[in-house]
Amino acid sequence: MRYDLAIIGTGPAGLEAAITASIRKLHFVLLGSPSSSNKVAKAHAIQNYLGLPDLAGEDMQKRFLDHARKMGVTITPEQITAVYSMGDYFILQGAKDNYEASSVILATGVVNGKPYPGEEKYLGRGVSYCATCDAAFYKGKKVAVIGGSPKEESEAEFLMQYAAEVLYFPLYKEPVSSTKLQVVNETPREILGGDKVTALAAGDEKYEVDGVFILREAVAPGQLVPGLETDGPHVKVNLDMSTSLPGMFAAGDLAGLPYQYIKAAGQGNVAALSAAAYVTSLKQKAKA
Ligand SMILES: Cc1cc2nc3c(=O)[nH]c(=O)nc-3n(C[C@H](O)[C@H](O)[C@H](O)COP(=O)(O)OP(=O)(O)OC[C@H]3O[C@@H](n4cnc5c(N)ncnc54)[C@H](O)[C@@H]3O)c2cc1C
Repeated sequence: MRYDLAIIGTGPAGLEAAITASIRKLHFVLLGSPSSSNKVAKAHAIQNYLGLPDLAGEDMQKRFLDHARKMGVTITPEQITAVYSMGDYFILQGAKDNYEASSVILATGVVNGKPYPGEEKYLGRGVSYCATCDAAFYKGKKVAVIGGSPKEESEAEFLMQYAAEVLYFPLYKEPVSSTKLQVVNETPREILGGDKVTALAAGDEKYEVDGVFILREAVAPGQLVPGLETDGPHVKVNLDMSTSLPGMFAAGDLAGLPYQYIKAAGQGNVAALSAAAYVTSLKQKAKA
């Protein structure tokens, strides 16, 4: 099945894009976390969102999700690992499934920090961003997992079903609640190897491993979408939120500074309206 529109990310940008897409009656899929975004839930008190003064992040998260639900928006729980432009449509590769859509809105937020040295070089040669996609390649092997948030613990536990040994490097302050994981409290520094990954340097130690899984909330846009024009951690966008790839739009933190809820939601709205216009023009061309 080919959707008119696929929206990736369920923060304010993605949710607002989905609400607008539903009003415009697009046939769309919203892919991401059913609980919206950590960057919403973790805020203490938000003072600058029009009409919702002084809300705690968790309350804002609930308001956003309730609004989307009321508009009939459903979230497909999914982590997208790659998006390929096929000319007049896109293929989205997810951890659970693949999707086809005539247009795409990227609303995946921004990646904090630079990639680790070696990360880009060994991507696909021992570096992976998706346990569900790549676990089977590490049957009987030793892997390191760099977990960006507590929710990655279950992904690391899943890897234990395949790998002979899993070393878990948490990047967060909360204590690791999984009792099954072999936790290493060292800060990862560099991914090392020859043709393929052979080790992860962390703290003053070198851990010999066959693979390194880097499980973050988001991956850099240039890695997610081959061929997309980027500017550092951001996607280059025009005022209508279009990008360098026809039919692809971007909104929110990913589309540049400032990082603000209301700006993210506003850009989500613009991106969805632009996607609606793009899809209409595609359909008109197909009829002509
Ligand atoms: C602690 C804190 C406090 C803040 N306080 C304020 C404030 O008071 N006022 C204000 O205006 N702003 C504030 N901000 C900034 C605000 O959080 C961001 O600007 C806003 O959340 C950006 O929304 P977004 O939709 O672009 O991205 P995000 O909120 O980052 O959402 C992106 C979503 O996409 C998901 N995703 C990423 N990659 C993929 C993928 N490949 N497949 C599927 N899903 C994916 C992520 O998991 C996430 O759920 C704060 C931020 C933080 C961290």
